[in-house]
Amino acid sequence: MNGQFFISLLNPGIGFLFAIAFFLLWLNRRERYVAYAAAAYTASALAFLIQDVGPVLPMELQRLPANIGFLATGMLFAAAIIKRYDLPVPWRAMSVTAAVSTAAFVWFLLGHPSIAARILTISIGAGIIAIMVVVALWPVEKRHLIDRVLFWVAAFSALNLIVRPVVLLSLRGGFDNYVGFQQSIYWTTVQFSQAMVSIVAAISLMVAVAIDQIAELRREADADNLSGLLNRRGFEAQANAVLRRCLLDRRPVALLIADLDHFKRINDSHGHAVGDAIIAAFGAHVRRIGPAGMVAGRIGGEEFALLVPGAGIESARQLAEAVRSGLQAACTDRIPASLCPTASLGIAVGDPGGVPAATLSALMQEADQALYEAKRTGRNRVRTFTPNPVRLAANGG
Ligand code: GH3
Ligand code: MG
Ligand code: MG
Repeated sequence: MNGQFFISLLNPGIGFLFAIAFFLLWLNRRERYVAYAAAAYTASALAFLIQDVGPVLPMELQRLPANIGFLATGMLFAAAIIKRYDLPVPWRAMSVTAAVSTAAFVWFLLGHPSIAARILTISIGAGIIAIMVVVALWPVEKRHLIDRVLFWVAAFSALNLIVRPVVLLSLRGGFDNYVGFQQSIYWTTVQFSQAMVSIVAAISLMVAVAIDQIAELRREADADNLSGLLNRRGFEAQANAVLRRCLLDRRPVALLIADLDHFKRINDSHGHAVGDAIIAAFGAHVRRIGPAGMVAGRIGGEEFALLVPGAGIESARQLAEAVRSGLQAACTDRIPASLCPTASLGIAVGDPGGVPAATLSALMQEADQALYEAKRTGRNRVRTFTPNPVRLAANGG
């Protein structure tokens, strides 16, 4: 047993450790791409194990499963990264590449033995698979640092796989036998650079998984399952961010608060399930008709807030009217039409040049006052906040 033997255990060891880590992460949320990563590291560990510490078969046949394992690692890792972005995984192109590469490998193993040619076929095959990741990720908007890191890991892997064998073989010529190969600078470089790439790749992907899982938890913590809108917490967080953006860009912004009319009565006489169905219908209705960029949440039992960036008073009124007048139709596929409630809405508009600048809580208070006006003057109507609320043209009530 010598130092070379322990270096040989490096890649299988790293592979298995990462495979276990990805498997544990996969148990959490069962995302497909995390399973691909676990499978990739398992394949890599097995391939290195067969290659470096496995039994030597006649005609060096153990090289065949080992190299198929390397190609499988490339394919699975490529699938993991591409799937993270919900992009189609180019299974067919990858399989064809791997098959051609394997066929060439078999030819240079049995037909016309050449270690150098075998190295080139496998390394370039894996390099082409890495290029497929680069191509798939090229058009993706890389919003986080981790997105750029994953892209560059793929780009560097492609470069490493294609350039390294060409350079090293041209410097050193071919190999006469496997003993020479295994003790060569080439193979030591492969083992070392592969270990580095595989550690960097695994850590990057693990950070990506952690970021994705935290984002998913945050989404769940901010969501209201019944209405499909945000809950109060989520609404306030997102609305504050959008409001700040609007004030910075000097864009108008409108806040609508909607409250279902006599909801307690419907709940009391027809049951909680009917009330819930109405809340769900209201949420779906708002999502359907709301403009892009709107932040909508259920901020109380049967009370909803909509923040609409870019909306001045007229478009806010139109949206409020559409919410109010479309509610009946929105409910009828869930409950009998006779049980559908009406809704009252209050509007406040943020003045981009206003002093003091609009805050969410100020807008909420103003919209609440307008809502109170709508309730007070007969419900099923829209009112807009003015410092001294005045009656607007009657609508619907
Ligand atoms: P108003 O027209 O003045 O708004 O009268 P209202 O009855 O709608 O108002 P109130 O605030 O008195 O009643 C709200 C009711 O909403 C009380 C509660 O029974 C019901 N509610 C609150 N949250 C939920 C919920 O998640 N599901 C259901 N089904 N009902 C809810
Ligand atoms: Mg109500
Ligand atoms: Mg209420």
